[in-house]
Amino acid sequence: MSATLINGTEMARSLRADVARAAAELRQRHGVTPGLAVLLVGDDPASQVYVRNKVKACEEAGLHSVLERLPADTTQDALLARIDALNRDPAIHGILVQLPLPPHLSSHLVIEAIAPEKDVDGFHISNAGLLMTGQPQVVPCTPYGIMKMLQALDVPLRGAEAVVVGASNIVGKPMAMLLLQAGATVTLCNSKTRDLGAQCRRADVLVVATGKPGLVRGDMIKPGAVVIDVGINRGADGKLHGDVDFASAVEVAGAITPVPGGVGPMTIAMLLVNTLEAAQRGLARA
Ligand code: NDP
Repeated sequence: MSATLINGTEMARSLRADVARAAAELRQRHGVTPGLAVLLVGDDPASQVYVRNKVKACEEAGLHSVLERLPADTTQDALLARIDALNRDPAIHGILVQLPLPPHLSSHLVIEAIAPEKDVDGFHISNAGLLMTGQPQVVPCTPYGIMKMLQALDVPLRGAEAVVVGASNIVGKPMAMLLLQAGATVTLCNSKTRDLGAQCRRADVLVVATGKPGLVRGDMIKPGAVVIDVGINRGADGKLHGDVDFASAVEVAGAITPVPGGVGPMTIAMLLVNTLEAAQRGLARA
């Protein structure tokens, strides 16, 4: 058996076209252009690529975007002051601080300084709390994009066994919450999980987000399962690899996301969706 490939690039293109249409309508009807500010501190090469892709996607969808590059020795106070100014800027509906930050800066303090209604990453404690209590407002882009993928594929989630491997605040935990709220029975695994294979083999839907290339192999997958590989790992061969061993997994899974071309493009598309929705909510509040 060979799994169906889930084409994240194609799904993301269609979502971005929807955002472009809705943004044009917002501009025509209300004179508002959704605006995103991206703050990059330092010169981490992977972060440089991510922020460039995010800003380019905004421009292509007709959103207003500002990329602010700050030196690696930016102080906490200076960064908080920039965030404060953007919080008060009416042309900016979304603020994203690219992580990871240099070690002398506290990502917790920085995230909490962003006005929750402009927190388009959905990492602010009040957005995390709203998601946790079943009142999602701004949902983190990666798990939000995965839910859109599962919906587009008509994957039944009610009563399904869902296993999420990796329990970070930005992917694993919000992913587990969204699957739970969709009616799945959810298992959330971390690095201390005993017999990861046994946990994974129960999954109808398996989401892997660990940063450990090839961690989940075909023999850990239930035949026919939907496998979502979030991992982005640069291999010694210079290519990108997921957290799932694709060659063995594709023989067992029913459907699987490739890396690249799976979850990554959806994450960027959902950033545009979150920025658009932040602008729409701002208008509703005005
Ligand atoms: P983190 O490092 O923040 O979290 C990793 C999680 O995986 C932790 O909960 C950790 O457990 C768990 N883990 C590590 N090793 C194992 C193991 N052997 N078995 C089970 N669980 C394990 O990572 P992120 O969530 O930020 O990112 C994960 C991956 O996803 C990375 O490759 C990242 O690049 C990628 N990513 C991709 C995105 C996309 O758009 N495609 C977006 C965001 C991330 P513990 O809690 O015990 O330490």
